[in-house]
Amino acid sequence: MSMKELYSVRMRAAAGGPHEEGGRHISGAERLVPEGDVRQVVGAMLDRALNHSRGRPDFINLTLEALPAERVLTVPLLPIRTLAVPDLVAGRRAALNLLIKAGVVRCAAERALTALQALPDSMRGAMLLSAATGERLDGYGGRGVRVTRMDIHPASRLAVREALTSYGLGNNHVLEAGILASKVVSAPGVVAELCWSDDPDYVAGYVAIATCYTRFSYLKPYGSPIGGRAFFVREGTDINATISYLQEQPVLVVPGEDWCVVPEAGEARWNF
Ligand code: AMP
Repeated sequence: MSMKELYSVRMRAAAGGPHEEGGRHISGAERLVPEGDVRQVVGAMLDRALNHSRGRPDFINLTLEALPAERVLTVPLLPIRTLAVPDLVAGRRAALNLLIKAGVVRCAAERALTALQALPDSMRGAMLLSAATGERLDGYGGRGVRVTRMDIHPASRLAVREALTSYGLGNNHVLEAGILASKVVSAPGVVAELCWSDDPDYVAGYVAIATCYTRFSYLKPYGSPIGGRAFFVREGTDINATISYLQEQPVLVVPGEDWCVVPEAGEARWNF
């Protein structure tokens, strides 16, 4: 597939006015596609903004930006595994253990879980936290750091979607989050990401580290419209460089030859 130019297509929707005037975040989406796909992608984003379980937006911002293909970086798609947990407490405990294993200090991981749990409403973006202390490092307040300009390579989208579907993971959540997480862990200084969705019906969440995306079947209470993301960065990281990579660097994610979906397994198997 030859691509001279790619288009970053971005959507954000809010209710009660634009985000910057205090509107409540409803939905957002990010794609990076060849010109021929732009119309279809814009239409799908509009449908999604207008039919979100968090409510009906009265503000929708759609941005299209042409990017020369030579600016686009390629990074590997993380393998995706699911850890079946019986409930939220077990899910959060397993997520905490995995973060610690990845190099996040226990108190930093605990602070992040507490901060995500305490959010009064969903942010549009993510909190950037110190992996050593859990201290918030970005200055973006209630907006957070928004990861943009990423997608799966168009030549791999279908095969990856089919692989996910064959394991019952064909919903948008897993593919989109897998793409986002693959970009996030490729950013300078990032050790791990913790996420749960703001979709009230979707209780799964994940921890991503450099080698794997681990999905936990329960990470938030059913019915909660409040989601969140935390990115942990190691001490001494140039925060501005990390933020600018996350927010601006165009990235296409490509599954390597050994990319796989690991079938669902119970907690014991992962030996936490
Ligand atoms: P979602 O996975 O779309 O349900 O999003 C869950 C939460 O992750 C949202 O409430 C935001 O706080 C955050 N989030 C969603 N998209 C992004 C993004 N592109 N960059 C950073 N954070 C995001």
